[in-house]
Amino acid sequence: MSEQADMPREHTLPIANIVATDQPITLSRPASRCPHCAHKIKWYENIPLVSWLLLRGRCSSCKASIGLRYPLVELVTAFLSVLVIYKFGVNTTGLFALVLVWTLVALTGIDFDTQLLPDRLTFPLAGLGLAVNSQSWFVTPTQSIWGLLLGFLSLWIVVKVFYLITKKTWNGSRGF
Ligand SMILES: [Zn+2]
Repeated sequence: MSEQADMPREHTLPIANIVATDQPITLSRPASRCPHCAHKIKWYENIPLVSWLLLRGRCSSCKASIGLRYPLVELVTAFLSVLVIYKFGVNTTGLFALVLVWTLVALTGIDFDTQLLPDRLTFPLAGLGLAVNSQSWFVTPTQSIWGLLLGFLSLWIVVKVFYLITKKTWNGSRGF
């Protein structure tokens, strides 16, 4: 009897742990951790470029080397941000251009790692583009609508042609 009574507890505990930790991963969650020793990266170890240089590219806890990609992405983002502000100035147009550039940097990284461009990033960006350009901030409203149509249509055609030739579904074409 006592053995049977103990059974469910042993079986439910690991499942409960999985459910509790099975949170969707976002840009801010979970908190950054070292992939080698799971050391939680403190805020002063997470300052773009500066921290990587001060830590000499190594985890402060286990000394595992931190990939060059992190400071490289930060350097590229900083460079692009300076270019955007130089071109548009410190105003709302510049702010929206920054949102576009930062999202494109994130999408580039996600695409590189997963061969996916998440709808939850591309769709809001497309909507924001239409909204901003309804006021002709970057291009005219008509150009903005054609840009949206041709942008999505060009990828859709690639997916359809790829399927007709190979009979395989393009990785990342879910939803088409
Ligand atoms: Zn570590």
